[in-house]
Amino acid sequence: MSERPKSHLFYQTRRRRPTLDQARGVYMWDVDGKRYLDGSSGAMVCNIGHSNERVLEAMRRQMEKSTFGYRLHFETEPAERLAEKTASLAPEGMEKVFFVSGGSEAVESAIKLARQYALAVGQAQRFKVISRYPSYHGCTLGALALTGYAPMTAPFDPMMRAMPKVPAPRAYLDGLDPEDPETGRHYADQLEQRILAEGPETVLAFIQEPVGGASTGALVPPAGYMERVREICDRYGVLLIHDEVMSGGGRTGRFFAAEHWGVAPDILVVSKGFAAGYAPLGAMVAHERIVEPVLDAGGFIHGFTYAGNPLACAAGLAVIEEIETQGMMENAERIGALLKARLQGLMQRFPFIGDVRGQGLLLAFELVADRASMAPLPKGLKAFDRLVEIAYDKGLIIYSRRTRGGHEGDHFLVCPPMIATEEHVAEIEGALVASLQVFAQEAGLPVAGAA
Ligand code: PLP
Repeated sequence: MSERPKSHLFYQTRRRRPTLDQARGVYMWDVDGKRYLDGSSGAMVCNIGHSNERVLEAMRRQMEKSTFGYRLHFETEPAERLAEKTASLAPEGMEKVFFVSGGSEAVESAIKLARQYALAVGQAQRFKVISRYPSYHGCTLGALALTGYAPMTAPFDPMMRAMPKVPAPRAYLDGLDPEDPETGRHYADQLEQRILAEGPETVLAFIQEPVGGASTGALVPPAGYMERVREICDRYGVLLIHDEVMSGGGRTGRFFAAEHWGVAPDILVVSKGFAAGYAPLGAMVAHERIVEPVLDAGGFIHGFTYAGNPLACAAGLAVIEEIETQGMMENAERIGALLKARLQGLMQRFPFIGDVRGQGLLLAFELVADRASMAPLPKGLKAFDRLVEIAYDKGLIIYSRRTRGGHEGDHFLVCPPMIATEEHVAEIEGALVASLQVFAQEAGLPVAGAA
């Protein structure tokens, strides 16, 4: 890496990264000319690949007209058209769209809309939002209170209102069969028990990621779970919020992941792949029966300055058009199945891969010390960090988190853009094999067939 002056930027740590020069398709290049395969689409964002010419052109056209129109002063055509398009992709009746600039903003909007709805219909005692552990819903204090990932929440606990949690349905860790509807029932019933313990009249909503994101590593719910959760929410008048910030936008093979189970929430949120990194954009989509009483009661007391930004909305519209016209969801399903099979294939060679999971191109693998017990690797190995660094050196970008609520465990999201081809899958597999070999050697872990 070339010598660089001191940076005035700071994010989480002091770790520096190479300076990005350009990005095209699934590849990115730093200013020294090194090429990286973007095997995690950034943070599962750049779903349609980098520098898509048609999206850039749509943005240029919009830029020539206007880049900002404040929502209290103007309606804009891109925002109207994107809202219409989004509503058409959402489950029936989810006709109302509220734009934001990112996932945390979308989650905040959803819980505030839910609360205002409860007030509007005379249920002021409802305020608790139940979520799952582990989960990730964002870093603002409201969304963080719903998040189940201890290292991120603990420092702020005294500043947040504690919200009830139920276990995420991690059948593979609990030794249960994910294909057995009894398993889905087992986890969903824990939600019911929690609602009863809290007092159903105080529970406002339940929020979940239909296919898990970073905190669980692409967790797919067990059979029967989604349907049963919907039933339970209905039984107690609890609103169901789907956090599709990561799973929405086509990556799982459907525009919204919950479509795989035919389950409609009352409110959903989407961001990341929604504008695929071309502009900061997210949306909350709500059923009319939720929004109308709030507007009748005087209006939704909430909003962000950049909401409905015409440039961001033009980008979002063009991204959806690309997803649809280029058959990207079909590709995510097909290439996702291939990549998943290749990752599963690695389990033979690397006995310390404990699980491979996910849907479409929202995929992850998890490392363990022992596959039978699913005991995690020793914490001190910091596999979640080390393997990412080894792969990065080899020009493959993947994304990792601690599996067990952030305390220990190591999983890695392998989520290339939805334009990935068989050749890209082969390249990812090759780089992963090389990286896992280096990691195994460093950590003293066995590799099958190794001399
Ligand atoms: N919800 C989920 C499921 C996410 O994966 C994320 C981000 O990773 C968020 C919410 C927060 O989104 P943002 O980082 O855009 O605020």
